[in-house]
Amino acid sequence: MNVYNMTLEDLEKYFESIDEKPFKAKQLYKWLYDKKINSYDEITDIKKEVIIKIKENLNLNKPELVTVERDKDTNKYLFKLEDNEYIEAVLMRHDYGKSICISSEVGCNMGCKFCESGRRKKVRDLKVYEMVTQILLVEEDIKEKITHVVVMGIGEPFDNYENVTNFIKIINSPFGLKIGSRHITISTCGIIPKIYEFMNFPYQVNLAISLHAPTNEIRDKIMPINKVYQIEELIESIKKYIEKTNRRVTFEYIMLDGVNDSELNAQKLSKLLKGINCYVNLIPYNETENISFKRSEMFKIMKFYDILKKNKIEVTIRREFGSKISAACGQLRSKKEEL
Ligand code: SAH
Repeated sequence: MNVYNMTLEDLEKYFESIDEKPFKAKQLYKWLYDKKINSYDEITDIKKEVIIKIKENLNLNKPELVTVERDKDTNKYLFKLEDNEYIEAVLMRHDYGKSICISSEVGCNMGCKFCESGRRKKVRDLKVYEMVTQILLVEEDIKEKITHVVVMGIGEPFDNYENVTNFIKIINSPFGLKIGSRHITISTCGIIPKIYEFMNFPYQVNLAISLHAPTNEIRDKIMPINKVYQIEELIESIKKYIEKTNRRVTFEYIMLDGVNDSELNAQKLSKLLKGINCYVNLIPYNETENISFKRSEMFKIMKFYDILKKNKIEVTIRREFGSKISAACGQLRSKKEEL
């Protein structure tokens, strides 16, 4: 078993199973996540015999950091996993801290037409340790603490629900990486049964929905998931989610030239979201050479923004990060696999 798969509770159970006091779990967590050890030999406050047992049972393996592309305020990381698959993470420097965008699966089955990751089928779920160590490896690279985590890299987090929620427990733990729940965001294309499940997940993390269209007609064309879970039901589930959690939801909306960016689309979107405790994040599309969608021109994005504002929908335009360094979701992995 990889030790970075284990929640504090799992580790407490483990210590009980080898007849040791469960508080050792907290001690070990401190070594893993504060001191960031690379070998159990660095531990000074747990007895040798116990360390020997831990070594036998729990490995410290991490993926291999293959390449880093560096830009002014963005680093993009490519990792190789134990089975030679590749995943990516992106680090972004903001004035409020450092955020990391992590992957949740190898590939993705959602097949969104504009998305580089969706061009290939999902190979497998990421294990918990493969998500946790993306953060550890990037922190090791930058020698600084990551303050915000978004699960918006390759994969659909709600298609790997159990591992993603265990990942949240570990990084949020006050004995682990201590990333505040309000600094953690999960982004989903809208797998409705999981949205209902997530309402009862007792951590105050943020939820973002990749909406990208105001009508089923448009959404059906760009996001196959919409054929399974249509917009009305999606909005209904979000209303329930907000009722239950009292948390504001983000709707992501990629601006695709001539597809979803008209003034009428903005009016329809305003109507759809009226009265919902949410905000819309307009995202300038990151063009990628394998896909023919184009980014809306800035004046169109501004016009769209103005209409939402006028209709009293809270809206922001996403600041651009790393378009020079293959920052579109899945681009780095694609490059690697096409070599
Ligand atoms: N599957 C999840 C999370 C991964 S995608 C989801 O759908 O939310 C993260 C976000 O990036 C989504 O909003 C997705 O639609 C968007 N995205 C994908 N390709 C993009 C591109 N080329 N430019 C801008 N955003 C993109």
